[in-house]
Amino acid sequence: MQVSIACTEQNLRSRSSEDRLCGPRPGPGGGNGGPVGGGHGNPTGGGGSGPKARAAVVPRPPAPAGVLRESTGRGTGMKYRNLGKSGLRVSCLGLGTWVTFGSQISDETAEDVLTVAYEHGVNLFDTTEVYAAGKAERTLGNILKSKGWRRSSYVITTKIFGGGQAETERGLSRKHIIEGLRGSLERLQLGYVDIIFANRSDPNSPMEEIVRAMTYVINQGLALYWGTSRWGAAEIMEAYSMARQFNLIPPVCEQAEHHLFQREKVEMQLPELYHKIGVGSVTWSPLACGLITSKYDGRVPDTCRVNIKGYQWHKDKVQSEDGKKQQAKVMDLLPIAHQLGCTVAQLAIAWCLRSEGVSSVLLGVSSAEQLIEHLGALQVLSQLTPQTVMEIEGLLGHKPHLKK
Ligand code: NAP
Repeated sequence: MQVSIACTEQNLRSRSSEDRLCGPRPGPGGGNGGPVGGGHGNPTGGGGSGPKARAAVVPRPPAPAGVLRESTGRGTGMKYRNLGKSGLRVSCLGLGTWVTFGSQISDETAEDVLTVAYEHGVNLFDTTEVYAAGKAERTLGNILKSKGWRRSSYVITTKIFGGGQAETERGLSRKHIIEGLRGSLERLQLGYVDIIFANRSDPNSPMEEIVRAMTYVINQGLALYWGTSRWGAAEIMEAYSMARQFNLIPPVCEQAEHHLFQREKVEMQLPELYHKIGVGSVTWSPLACGLITSKYDGRVPDTCRVNIKGYQWHKDKVQSEDGKKQQAKVMDLLPIAHQLGCTVAQLAIAWCLRSEGVSSVLLGVSSAEQLIEHLGALQVLSQLTPQTVMEIEGLLGHKPHLKK
């Protein structure tokens, strides 16, 4: 049986449940999503969906069609959003495994990080078949197995594209999508992933073959949803059209780079896809690989990813003229961060969270301390007024046409 997953505004409008459709996400400066609750393990008292929350009936204004509700996790303050316009609810902060799992950090640290994340309401964990040549998936899988958390309580995403050395072990052919995903599942020790991403577009594979292969792995129960990563808006639209034309399953989200110095795609292109075809964004590198943390204050610290073998490209980037200019701009943000009582990293992550159509921001951390700091971005989001956003944009020299 083939199912159509992405919800367009049209079919969302036809659902009448008040639970599904209500007011807009709290924008900068708060709104109707309930209190944030201070981040780490503090009960929030707001936004729950259990019987008590339903009993306290508060009349709401009619919901704008197609607007999905953000909710707040009980006891954690984590915010949950729909993955695009699918029904899957993901934490607005997700945890990635690039550079760190199976490579930069020990398995013990990886377990600490994953445990802190899960206990603070993070339910989205991202990896690929290629991170640390498959070790990232193995480490993640081992931890999930040892923790024994309910499989239904978290979302695992993996990305397929560049698996092995042979020509047939790369790209988005039907063969590699199916075999690559089976390899990932074996390393993860899971029966299925929640989302499989096509990690780059593949000019050598016909779009119909890609969409059919994604539909196949979903219909086989090896994945529940599919998305794209680093695809252009026109390619995503083509995949969507292909799916609609042949009654196949369309993608539900795009993974895209988004931070203070990389904005165009997530802010100018993807919102249109979100509104028209329900494709949301899962964004990555909110700190530009650690640059937006104020630790690169004109020098490269000893203990950071740029010193790892294979990441010379990142060191070069940090030490380039552009990199130095960006570091100077990060320093300019310090007074705003101080005013809000937060760190530059928290400010930068909160800033990413405010963008329209963003389902989840994928964090990268090399320690549990960094993660705990990042979780505080939820509190900062509630303090981020349009004025503060304009101040940030002014300091960064951004043009005012971008969404505030
Ligand atoms: P990021 O937030 O831009 O960078 C994370 C790194 O910054 C950390 O590993 C840490 O590295 C440093 N850092 C983080 N917090 C810090 C703090 N408070 N103080 C000082 N340094 C701090 O995120 P990312 O790791 O580049 O990307 C996040 C995830 O997005 C990845 O794990 C991956 O899942 C996903 N991703 C996807 C794609 C794609 O093509 N789809 C591409 C890239 C990433 P050090 O401690 O080593 O400095």
